[in-house]
Amino acid sequence: MRVLVVEDDPLVGDAVRQALLATGFAADLVSSAESARTALATESFDLAILDIGLPRESGIALLQGLRSRGKTLPVLMLTARDSVSDRVTALDLGADDYVTKPFEVPELVARCRALIRRANAVASARVVFGKLQVDMAHREVSAAGKPLSLTQREWAILECLVLNAGRVVSKDKLMSAVADWSTDLTPNAVEQYVSRLRGKLGDAAQIRAVRGMGYRLDDSSGA
Ligand code: CA
Repeated sequence: MRVLVVEDDPLVGDAVRQALLATGFAADLVSSAESARTALATESFDLAILDIGLPRESGIALLQGLRSRGKTLPVLMLTARDSVSDRVTALDLGADDYVTKPFEVPELVARCRALIRRANAVASARVVFGKLQVDMAHREVSAAGKPLSLTQREWAILECLVLNAGRVVSKDKLMSAVADWSTDLTPNAVEQYVSRLRGKLGDAAQIRAVRGMGYRLDDSSGA
């Protein structure tokens, strides 16, 4: 899952980005509405975190522009504690959630996970899929009751497949789940991660390749 952080305060922006990386998301940071628009137009993201107070153009104006162009990605706003009207305006313009500054980073990250789950119609951070048990809040996965040890990228790919379980996920989407701008990744690398993940999952769940389209997580019943 890939998150765009739009925040002009480098300390806050970097803390948020690092926390998202630590939870297994790919995350990119930009500091203005202009660069956010470019990023969102050219790359695919699963969530955007928008600070309201940005230079030149506010986070509210950015949000309004996105929604008026039909962009439906989940948006979480960072707002000032004393501005009820900002929060009301943001929600009415299509923000999905907000946190007020100063905020606790773990809460922000938990809200991001919840928004991404909701966008994928997954109700809880704990998902049971066939013999697979996945805890997205704690990044734990077990197969038939046995804990598995996954690398950060294997985890990111599994999480993306679990959030879309039973549906085909394109290779591009898997690439964007593991790669932000600081990494260079090829489609071949994604194939390698998938193949290692298959080895670790054993017969607890199947990652099926769907020719020309991508991959789909199926439970191992073969149904
Ligand atoms: Ca700001």
